[in-house]
Amino acid sequence: MTTHREPLDSVNETIGETPLVRVHAAPESVPVYAKLESFNPGASVKDRIGQYMLEEMLDRGDLDPGGTVIEPTAGNTGIGIALAATQLDVEAVFVVPERFSLEKQQLMRSLGAEIVNTPTDEGMGGAIDRADELAAEHENAVVPQQFANPLNAEAHYATTAPEIHDALDGRVGAVVAGCGTAGTLMGIARYAREQHPETFVAAVEPQGSRYAEVMGTEVEEGEYKTEGIGTHDPSTNELFDPELVDQVIRVGDRTAQDELKRLASEEGHLVAASAGMASVAARDVAERIRDGEIDAPHDTVVTVFPDSSERYLSKGIYDEFESWEG
Ligand code: PMP
Repeated sequence: MTTHREPLDSVNETIGETPLVRVHAAPESVPVYAKLESFNPGASVKDRIGQYMLEEMLDRGDLDPGGTVIEPTAGNTGIGIALAATQLDVEAVFVVPERFSLEKQQLMRSLGAEIVNTPTDEGMGGAIDRADELAAEHENAVVPQQFANPLNAEAHYATTAPEIHDALDGRVGAVVAGCGTAGTLMGIARYAREQHPETFVAAVEPQGSRYAEVMGTEVEEGEYKTEGIGTHDPSTNELFDPELVDQVIRVGDRTAQDELKRLASEEGHLVAASAGMASVAARDVAERIRDGEIDAPHDTVVTVFPDSSERYLSKGIYDEFESWEG
């Protein structure tokens, strides 16, 4: 385990090398391990891509020193980019649909970023369009566009995936992760399939989301409360490669909330709804490997817990939330 014994020059040096911890409610014979991404300094999986995308764009000359990054984001990516920007000569502006948590928006502002809100009913698509408009008005501005930027998945291919591989000595039988941009899943899955082409890969989305359509399954579209994963318009999720996915698993908000509460009270994990969904799906895959329904190269399942429940306390994440369905 990384202990950061040496004094460090900046908090950004603590990004990555997060713990991989067993989820105990899974079958004994097919352990499930979760990568705890709230251990990053901005407390989510998105610190990795914030740092990776900005550094690569500066290196490649796609972003000039003194320039501005304008990004449509549900929040965690904004925090990750804003954190990286504090160490680089870059300004950050974020376009955030109103429905997303106020905690995230406060954190982005406190890291020095500017926030532009867009109407909830325009979804992420509205935020993406507004970011493009703002970039056209700004001089020396770029939109990393995490939904279409290969650097997003590459960040996970370069960091998250080898960390998982090393922690398990290569014994990765299945990868199960929630898909927002799908960068996390694509980066880890591509690496794992290169190690072992038969690695089982499952994408997780909320009921009501439309990723399953890309795999040829007709689904009913609807609203969901879980933040950070799912899509209402799969044509904007350009990183999602169905060739790298065996199955899309859909989980309801209520089931995710029951699981995130269970993860806290039984296992000590303070994680949010996207982690609850990932955990339910990962346990399901582990049970199917145990029962011989899935043929995986190793008897282990890896998932990702992307962030912490503290970020959603004002939204009543631990309350009896009648409107949470599924
Ligand atoms: N969970 C949360 C809370 C997130 O903010 C995100 C990022 N949108 C994800 C899961 C999914 O990560 P990705 O965008 O890499 O698919």
